[in-house]
This record gives sequence, structure tokens and C-alpha cells, in this order.
Amino acid sequence: MALYQSSQFITAWTDAEFDRLHHPRTPAPHSGIYRCVGCGFEIAASEGQLLPPIHAHPHRLGTQEVWQMIVYADHRLK
Ligand SMILES: [Zn+2]
Repeated sequence: MALYQSSQFITAWTDAEFDRLHHPRTPAPHSGIYRCVGCGFEIAASEGQLLPPIHAHPHRLGTQEVWQMIVYADHRLK
């Protein structure tokens, strides 16, 4: 579970991009935090960076190893 301290810096948002699943070793479409759907392991990835290959984290056997963006990093200037 991703954690944060200050709620002023994070906002709940609904967008289809959060529903997409991404296979191992495919480019992250956005910078942010990604979660393995099968085991909950979380990583940070920059846009265009390859998501980890299979078996690169202590994955729970028998579950699907695909990545879902759970936090989007907003690069716009404020
Ligand atoms: Zn996993």
C-alpha cells in the first residue's frame, strides 16, 4: 500500500489510465507508482522506463504478474 504524509500533495482522481494493466518489460506510460496486481509489490517508474521483468521481485506464485499505475506523478509546474 502506497503511503503519504501530507494529503495536500495527493488527490483522488478517476481516469481510465489507472485501470490499464501493463505487462513486465513494457514501457511505463506515465511516471508514477505501479503495483503488481498479483502480489501488491510496488515500484516507482519514470515515463518510458521498462517495467520490471517477471520474477524480478518476490512475487506470489500462481498469481498474475502485471503492473497497474496507482499514483500518477504530475510533472506540471505549479
Ligand atoms: Zn508480484
